[in-house]
Order: sequence, then structure tokens, then C-alpha cells
Amino acid sequence: MEIVDLSKPITNGMRSHVTTSIVPVMRIGDAAGKFDPPCEGFASNLIVMSDHCGTHFDAPNHFIRGGASVDQIPPSRTVGPAVVCEVTGVDAPQIESEHLVPAIARMPVKPRRGGILLLHTRLPEDRGKGIGRSAAEHLVELGVRLVGTDHGGIDNTRNRDRPGHMVLLQHDVLIVESLTSLDRLLGKEVLFVCLPLAFEGASGSPVRPIVISPCPAGPWPLSG
Ligand SMILES: [Zn+2]
Repeated sequence: MEIVDLSKPITNGMRSHVTTSIVPVMRIGDAAGKFDPPCEGFASNLIVMSDHCGTHFDAPNHFIRGGASVDQIPPSRTVGPAVVCEVTGVDAPQIESEHLVPAIARMPVKPRRGGILLLHTRLPEDRGKGIGRSAAEHLVELGVRLVGTDHGGIDNTRNRDRPGHMVLLQHDVLIVESLTSLDRLLGKEVLFVCLPLAFEGASGSPVRPIVISPCPAGPWPLSG
């Protein structure tokens, strides 16, 4: 059994898209003198960052007014069988259904209804691609409940109407963005495990998703 980490490290000063741009990480709690030797106090950090920093989860209320916030999403919605679809090198501004449909047809293991689909869009020499409206609508038709991408966001950032986020989240298809190492998972089904922190009312959470390979047998797909 193999465990693969799909997250990027969170580093001081890294950019997170659109809203806040830095992640100050400051050491506090230097409690020297308050403890007895050999204890020299403890380390503790104040971390200030966007709830969409680094590899992160998008809750429905990220784009849908009145949608569920991250603390309202049960773990059963973010853990499940997953497959990776390779849609690299797309010669278009964004991935549309004309690219996605043949890419899924080439997959030796297809996405399950109720399962998870991870989009491998990024080659080492590029930044990957977001999806357009027709691709998002196709993902909804497939019946997957969560879509991940190794692009910084599910959308092409130039699409100001954000069809990827809008279509998926309107249909309660959850999103995880800025994944890494998806090329290591091609051609097999894995168990995707992603546990956003239950920040009350938040629209997202930095996450450290992993996959367990091979996917353990179980009562998949999930219904939650
Ligand atoms: Zn997003």
C-alpha cells in the first residue's frame, strides 16, 4: 500500500490568488523562564492566511450565496474513490468538453458516479489549465461529487464569470485546487482523503490531501 501526498507546502510569503497575497508565519509563545529545566518553553505560531491558500478546498459558499460553508461539509463528502484524468497540453484557453470527453474515454479506470475525479492538467513546463462551462457541465453529468485539479483554480482566471466554480458548486460538486503529483496516480483507482478544517462559516480551507493506493475495498461510492 502506498500513500501519496497531493499538497504543496505552505510557506511564509507565498501568494494565494485574488484576495490576500501573503502568509505571514510568526513565532509567538516564547515562554522561556516560565517552565522548569530541561523544558525551555514551547513553540507556537500565529498563522494568517486566506482560507484559499495553497492546496485548498472550496465550499459551495465560495461562489453560491447561502451555500454550505466548509464546517457544514461532512468528511464523507471529501473522502472516497478517485481516478485521475489526464488533460495536459490542451491547445485552447481552457479545457472544454471537447477535450474532456476523449480524455475520459482514454482512461483505463473510469470515474464512478458518486466518486471523485482529479484533473491532471499541468505539465512540468506549464501551469495547467482551468475548465470552461461545457467541461463543468460534463463533470456534473458524470455524477462525480468532487473535482480536484492541479491548476491553481478550477477556472481559467481570465473567465470573470467563473463557469467552473459556478456550475460545479451550484450542483454541489465540491472542489479541491492546486493539487500536485497527480501524474503518479494515472491509470488506477485510489482512495482520496481530504479533510478541510471546520472553520465556522468559511468558504474554504487549506488542506493536505493524500491518496491511498490501491483503493481499499469498501461500500463505495459514498452517498453523503
Ligand atoms: Zn476555487
